Amino acid sequence: MNDMFGKGILRGLGVSLKRFFETYLDDLAWMGKRYRTDEGIAHRGGKDARGIFTVQYPEEKIPVPEEFRCVPFLVYDEDINGLKQMRCTSCGICAKVCPPQCIWIVRSADPSTGRPIPDPAQFTIDADICMNCGLCAEFCPFDAIKMDHDYELASGMRNIYNMDRLSKSAKYYEYIRPVNAKRENTYRAAKAASRAERAE
Ligand code: SF4
Ligand code: SF4
Repeated sequence: MNDMFGKGILRGLGVSLKRFFETYLDDLAWMGKRYRTDEGIAHRGGKDARGIFTVQYPEEKIPVPEEFRCVPFLVYDEDINGLKQMRCTSCGICAKVCPPQCIWIVRSADPSTGRPIPDPAQFTIDADICMNCGLCAEFCPFDAIKMDHDYELASGMRNIYNMDRLSKSAKYYEYIRPVNAKRENTYRAAKAASRAERAE
């Protein structure tokens, strides 16, 4: 009966109006720090949020957890001259385990003997087919392929990533996945030390 006279609509408009004013009140209480700061985003996602609580994407982004997975990337280390050293040995394990078979690898060959060498000449991932499962990263024995956090990948064409597009530094990996990188670096250092000890 009430709704026949539009009272429900008025109540709804009242809620919107309340939120409208609360947004400005909360902005004043937070002195402009409610936006584009980690604390502000967390506050607006909490139970005490008043006024506007949506994330103002793309100016603001919700931080992703360390285990967040998007398209994989290839990790390279830098030598003392700053030259890229790809960790990938083109062993092909990642391509074998990839469920939708969206990884293609071409091995390099020794120019004098023509025999394959453990270095990728080409490494391609069809990012439109990749289902972000992370199996390639799980199975790689060389910590050479890892799952990226970059989810802003929209484009107007097929997303077939070559080695240049896929390569990212070990420092970037340490930045996005600090806990994993620390654990793996410790393990690799211990392994290298034990190899050096055996060689003596
Ligand atoms: S990324 Fe890892 S598993 Fe894939 S080819 Fe390179 S070394 Fe092998
Ligand atoms: S994340 Fe999964 S689907 Fe994507 S390339 Fe790796 S194994 Fe293939």
